[in-house]
This record gives sequence, structure tokens and C-alpha cells, in this order.
Amino acid sequence: MADKRDYYEVMGVPRNATEEEIKKAYRKLAKQYHPDLNPGDKNAEEKFKEVNEAYEVLSDKDKRARYDQFGHAGVDAGFGGGTGGDPFSGDPFGGVDLGDIFSSFFGGGFGGGGRRQANPNAPRRGSDLETNLVISFEEAAKGCKKTIHYTRVESCPKCSGTGAESGTQPKTCPQCNGTGQVRISQRTPFGVVQTSRGCERCGGTGRVIESPCKNCGGTGRVKKDQAVEVTVPAGIDDGQVLKLGGHGNAGVNGGPSGDLHVYISVRPHAIFERRGNDVWCEMPITFTQAALGAEVTVPTLDGRVSYQVHEGTQPGDVFKLRGKGIQSLGGRGRGDQYVRVTIEVPRNLSAKQKELLKEFDSASGDKNYQKRKSFFDKIRDMFD
Ligand SMILES: [Zn+2]
Ligand SMILES: [Zn+2]
Repeated sequence: MADKRDYYEVMGVPRNATEEEIKKAYRKLAKQYHPDLNPGDKNAEEKFKEVNEAYEVLSDKDKRARYDQFGHAGVDAGFGGGTGGDPFSGDPFGGVDLGDIFSSFFGGGFGGGGRRQANPNAPRRGSDLETNLVISFEEAAKGCKKTIHYTRVESCPKCSGTGAESGTQPKTCPQCNGTGQVRISQRTPFGVVQTSRGCERCGGTGRVIESPCKNCGGTGRVKKDQAVEVTVPAGIDDGQVLKLGGHGNAGVNGGPSGDLHVYISVRPHAIFERRGNDVWCEMPITFTQAALGAEVTVPTLDGRVSYQVHEGTQPGDVFKLRGKGIQSLGGRGRGDQYVRVTIEVPRNLSAKQKELLKEFDSASGDKNYQKRKSFFDKIRDMFD
């Protein structure tokens, strides 16, 4: 653990990177090293873990602040008695610092004041969650149904989210008589100042739990594994996001749940390449097929189809199969498929084959090789 890499270095962002920049870097790296996209690659797996660890810290305001101040020691398990790291155990009024006292009568300016003044009993929307879904090229083209497994925070079913052991109820806080606020006198450089601040005993909620629910430890919230079936629409492309409304973390105090954002990664295809809604591929044919013309079998998203390659097909010629491309997302119609022809020159010829080719060659002339003829005509013009 001694030579852990710097988290900013891992993410490839500067130390003053914004949340958005960090998020963006994370998405890029998580995709680059995702185990599903790098099967069997131990190095990628390690990188993926490293990136996730760095993101867990840098995406969390409190953890990032501790990391900036103390480095890895600031965010390793056990630091600071476990406060701050876990969003459910943190006492929002636990720490007292001068900044809080100042902000309460200078109207903020030291940061953090706004959040502390919010009513802790107000309904709050649950936070959004993100997950990755890797699908095949065909699944993206045609749409599919997938089951996504993830973990979300829910209201504790044992105590219905109250945090109190079943059969008991939260009691009115004796410290603040249920108001959630206490008045305090502070000696400051400006004299004695009376301020009211959130009650530490009840965390500003006005209620205390005497016998906490054993299932959730009194937080009223538990993490739960979820499986949700998602319909991936035909035509979805790599990097697009599906939003599953209400599948994020549960809200607090009756607030709505957040959303689940599903980031789509499309595995590259062995043959096909996507350009917009069109599908491109390269197809080798033999030089005799090219010269004589032939009926060839072409792979498409709909299976094999026959195509008549015309006589005299040249390397790099492209033919089009109308409507064999990708369904346009949320719309009607499909793209086309383009097939670029490559021509394979035969190898490992037998003596007999060589004989036949030599005979063929001696019967060939300029009219069979017009490109070559015009090329040499140009050279002659250049030098003569
Ligand atoms: Zn209280
Ligand atoms: Zn509970």
C-alpha cells in the first residue's frame, strides 16, 4: 500500500478539476478498462480497480477534501472514527469549527453554511446512481432486454424508515424540545455572540431514537441489491445513457427516489463497423470472382444474403445493400450496409496453376489493365 498512485494522476485530471471533469474522466477510463471489454486482461482489471477507488474518493466532497489535506492516509478505512465516509452515519452537526460560527452570522461566506441551515426533516430526493451496461453490436442494432444488477439505498423495511426498533417510536429530543435548534453563546473576537445552531443531540431533526432498529442501525436506510429489467431500444449507440426514473437511491422524509443512469458500452464487432446508422464491412473475394463476376454471400445483421458482384470489380469498390443498416433510434427507417471489396491474390500455387496463369498473362494486354496503362502513360508524359 506504500506506493499507491496519486488519485489525480490515476484519473488524469489536475488537482483543481471540477466535479464534472472528474466524472467525465471516470467515464472514459472506466470504459477503457472495463473487464467486460478486456476479458482476461489482468492489467486492465487492476487499472479498473484503481480508477474506481480514485473515483470513489474524488467524487465525494468530504473524502476529496480529506485526501487533499492528508493524502491516502486521510481516506483509508478507520480515519476519523468512521465519520464522514458513510453518508448514513454522519452526524451533520458533529464538527464545530470557527467557520460555522462565522457563517451563521455573516450569512455564509465560509462555505457549508447553507446545508446546515436546511431543515433536516424536509423531504429530499434520493441521489442518482450510475451503472454500466455492456451489450453486443447486434443487441445495440436490434434492441434487447437486459437485467441490471446494482445496489441502492432504500428505506429500512423493519422500521419503515424511522430508525426506531419495531414497537418503539422516536422520542422528542430533550435537548432542544423538538425544535432541532439550540441557542448558544460564543465568545468571539467581536464579543459574545448569541447564535442558534442545529441541535447536536438529534442532528436537527427534533427527534431522538432510544432503541435503534437493529436492521439499519438507526439510520432508517439500508443498502439493497436490486435487479431491474431494462429495455434497450434498437439503434442505441456506444456512450449513450438510459435513464431509469425512480430506480436510484430512495428519498428521505418521503422525498422521491433518484434515477438510475445506465451508460451503454457497445462491444466492437468482428466484421461490422457502425457509421451513423449505416453498417460498413470489408469483404475479400478472389481475383477470379472479381474478374469474372460472381454471386457471393454477404453477412448482414439479418443473416446471410446473396449479392451479384459484377464482372471487373476492382479492389476498394463499394456496394450498398439498402436498408440493411441499423434501426434509427426512436424513429422509423434503417440505415444501409456498405461492403468494401478487397481482392485476394492467390498464394501457394501449384505448377499447373502457375502454368495456366502464365498462359493467361501472355494472352492479356492493355485493354485488360486500363488503370495500369493510364498510369504508365502518365509516367511517359512526365519524363519524355
Ligand atoms: Zn435536539
Ligand atoms: Zn430500520
